[in-house]
Amino acid sequence: MNYTIKENCIACDVCQPLCPQDAIKPNSESDGYWIDPTLCDGCPDLEIPLCVSACDTGALKPLPPKKGRCKSSLLPVAIPSIFLNRKTSPFASCLVMWETCNILAQRQALPWTRDDDDRICYRRPVNRNRGEMRFRLAADAETNSPKPMSMGAGEEAIANFDIRATCIHLIFAAYVMTIDCPWQNAFVLNDQHIANYLGLDKRKDLTKLDKLTLIKNLVHQSCQVLVTLNWPQQGRVGAFRLEEHFVWQLLDTQYHFEKDSKGHRHLIGLSFTIKSGLWAKHFLNKQKYRSQTAFYQYGTLPQSLLREVMGRWQQHQGAIRILLWSLFKLRLGGDQRVKVRTLMRVAYGEEQLHQAATVRGAHKRLLRAFESDLEAICQYGLKPLFDPKTYPLDIQPLWVRVASIPDDVDEEVNFWADDANQAFGLTDSAPRDKWQRLLNARLLGFEISEEWQENIRRRKPKKRRKPSKSWTVTQTEKLSGSDINLARQRQKLSQRSLAERLGKSQSWVRDIENGRFKVSRDDQALLRKELDL
Ligand code: SF4
Ligand code: SF4
Repeated sequence: MNYTIKENCIACDVCQPLCPQDAIKPNSESDGYWIDPTLCDGCPDLEIPLCVSACDTGALKPLPPKKGRCKSSLLPVAIPSIFLNRKTSPFASCLVMWETCNILAQRQALPWTRDDDDRICYRRPVNRNRGEMRFRLAADAETNSPKPMSMGAGEEAIANFDIRATCIHLIFAAYVMTIDCPWQNAFVLNDQHIANYLGLDKRKDLTKLDKLTLIKNLVHQSCQVLVTLNWPQQGRVGAFRLEEHFVWQLLDTQYHFEKDSKGHRHLIGLSFTIKSGLWAKHFLNKQKYRSQTAFYQYGTLPQSLLREVMGRWQQHQGAIRILLWSLFKLRLGGDQRVKVRTLMRVAYGEEQLHQAATVRGAHKRLLRAFESDLEAICQYGLKPLFDPKTYPLDIQPLWVRVASIPDDVDEEVNFWADDANQAFGLTDSAPRDKWQRLLNARLLGFEISEEWQENIRRRKPKKRRKPSKSWTVTQTEKLSGSDINLARQRQKLSQRSLAERLGKSQSWVRDIENGRFKVSRDDQALLRKELDL
């Protein structure tokens, strides 16, 4: 239960220093105090809370739960939405943003060290060690002169980081795109928008105060990261150094209260004033980008990712870390191949990988977790593409092989007949050296949903080519699922054999034959070649 301070408080200052949660705050406009309901926990281990037993005037009273709806006129100002098409939004995606996201998501799994000042820090080399980003954590998120945390306090804070703070970081990274010169101008964000983006507004199991407390904690965590930059020259962009500053500076937190008929003040809203750090002057500078003397780096943030993080953060932290990492990695375009070992390091950290190699039975647990997380990623909409050479069917997860069983009864009969003749059948157990082979296995990338494709498309330089004959044919005569199915049967190929020839999974062939998704131009060319179309 929360407590509140009534009007008979005589501002004797006795209670404030006693509060273990630092929840009793001085009024800014008059004498006396108020209790921050997002901090007060009602001293659950004590029969009488410390503040109550210290107060001689009886001004401290339990705050009854709020009844009825909140008055919208008292709520923080509504601001424009970032997901204008209800699906995606541009977001700042430079390396500072990526590493901040990694800090909030991967936490202790990153190589934190002790610096010369005995402060906890994480260093990330830039451009083959020609430059460096150094990250530290501020003890207080809402201050103009941040003090970096010591090693001990930092380790504790990192262990308590909530992976959902990455959502707030990404929302800030999207808002910062909506303003000019973001290193000079702040933006205001209120709890309603955050709740809406994160799907918290639909949660019936949480009270309004639970939601506000969660949002405030997540905002504070994402505003604790400090960065120092030593950037090398890249092209026409000159080298620069930036002293330590907040990645996101929390300038102000506004509390919005409503008084009930008995005079109790209930917290009904919060608004946050945020300004990006000076990093934005170099990585989000539209004016200087035109003269190529600064960067303007952004990608596309799918709103579905925020909902995925909020929905699966407890059961599939590994999958969430891989998704968040991939959001930035995929934006870079080019070769999307990635080693399984790298994904595992992102999802579980180097220490877990080391344990898997040294502790008996640990690799089995990690393997199970990885395959389950990969399935969660696939269910979200990023279908892994297994490299047929290094990640063949016999070491792929069982769910991949089960997914390749056709829906059609006749095709299923053929499938099992075909399966019986394969060197490695669906029901065979995995080879003994699966773990070792898996560590050297690779994914060719992910087959990505429409929302994620925007992320890559935006980066690809538009190459102007003369339309060749084959290009014209590909454009005008798109292959349909039934064309592919007929051509495959003409060639007397099973779905599995065609998949092997194409370097794809059997379920991929089945899905395109059933018209579940469009075939990319490159894959159409491959299919035409293999099926003689
Ligand atoms: S009830 Fe406990 S936590 Fe709440 S204000 Fe009083 S001393 Fe602080
Ligand atoms: S102890 Fe009671 S009277 Fe004194 S400041 Fe606290 S609430 Fe007010």
